[in-house]
Amino acid sequence: MHDCLIIGGGVIGLSVAWELSRHGLSCAVLDQQAFGQESSWAGAGMLPPGNPQQAETSDERLRSHSHVLWPEWSAALRDASGIDNGFRRDSALEVRFAGQPGDLDDEVRRWLSTGVACQPLAESEARELEPELGPGISAAYLLPEHGQVRNPRHLKALHTACGRARVTLLPGTPVWEIARRDGRVTHVETPAGRMTAGHYVVASGAWSERLLAPLGNPPWVRPLRGQMVLLSQFPCSLARVINLGHRYLVPRGDGRVLVGSTEEDVGFDRRNTAEGVLGLLELARQVVPALSQATLERTWAGLRPRSIDGLPYLGRLPGTDNLIVATGHHRAGLQLSPITAVLVGELIRGISPRVDLHGFRPDRVGSD
Ligand SMILES: Cc1cc2nc3c(=O)[nH]c(=O)nc-3n(C[C@H](O)[C@H](O)[C@H](O)COP(=O)(O)OP(=O)(O)OC[C@H]3O[C@@H](n4cnc5c(N)ncnc54)[C@H](O)[C@@H]3O)c2cc1C
Repeated sequence: MHDCLIIGGGVIGLSVAWELSRHGLSCAVLDQQAFGQESSWAGAGMLPPGNPQQAETSDERLRSHSHVLWPEWSAALRDASGIDNGFRRDSALEVRFAGQPGDLDDEVRRWLSTGVACQPLAESEARELEPELGPGISAAYLLPEHGQVRNPRHLKALHTACGRARVTLLPGTPVWEIARRDGRVTHVETPAGRMTAGHYVVASGAWSERLLAPLGNPPWVRPLRGQMVLLSQFPCSLARVINLGHRYLVPRGDGRVLVGSTEEDVGFDRRNTAEGVLGLLELARQVVPALSQATLERTWAGLRPRSIDGLPYLGRLPGTDNLIVATGHHRAGLQLSPITAVLVGELIRGISPRVDLHGFRPDRVGSD
């Protein structure tokens, strides 16, 4: 019997397994398909900064603790797996086109008041950093500590590190049912038979609510489709991430540029649509006109696990002592994966979590 059984082998499930194995606990990770093929693969890998000393909200606290963990986490993962996940802090530019000069002032104030380096920029300064930006920049600022990770490589590194740490990895093994008696999970039902463990972690992304529903009062988790376009251009016109609110261009440093993303409430539908792809191509052309000559390499879509309020669900499922929920990370699951794994590890090892989990409790309610 394993110390812990983790349902879902995306970035959250694999990170939890690796963290627990580093503390000597035996784990099994089950995924209904191959590992790391869903939202975690589809994401852009952007890692916004934070400062734990001055973080005020639950969201800021979680983000800032993860920000601090990323360098050590990546280095340890490289040592354990032999794979470089491409983590780097190469800054991000937030820009607006054809708006008002003060459009980003509130955001700049917010970053600075939470102790995060943020530099407001005049149009000429933004253009000095990114000479290929299109016309009509009305507001801009720089986040020097913004990072990124090559998420498909990161997933490979986690998978390899887990394998080397003797984590039992079971792809193609859906959990059909979580059985509970007297306030404890007794086993899970899978096509390979019943499996039992001391602790259970639900890290099943957009599918988590479905899985937990039979236990009663599940956390509200719904898929939110995000479409992506991958362009390549040699040499590349961009040096750093360019954000326009929730849409962005992410240069990978090898001539490839990710353009994302849509936010679509369409259920478990992972198709690309003509409208979605067209919108992203138009965005790319507006932000960097030279990209209209880039090669269109690939398109894809992923299902973000959206929660009721944008914050993840982290903690024990009320009424079930040995079941921890780690899901609903929405747009930030890659960014928040190290701190999520550390916090789940602390809960399982009986250590007081370093971040107050009240704001993330799985039974907080909302309506559809
Ligand atoms: C287009 C897009 C861009 C994004 N960009 C970023 C970004 O820049 N930065 C960032 O931090 N985040 C980003 N995200 C969000 C991030 O990708 C997610 O928050 C994160 O990947 C969630 O990880 P997860 O492990 O919970 O879910 P997933 O990666 O979806 O993994 C869940 C796993 O559970 C498995 N599963 C489900 N049900 C069962 C079951 N019953 N039995 C067994 N296995 C099961 C699934 O097969 C899946 O492999 C982006 C997402 C998208 C779609």
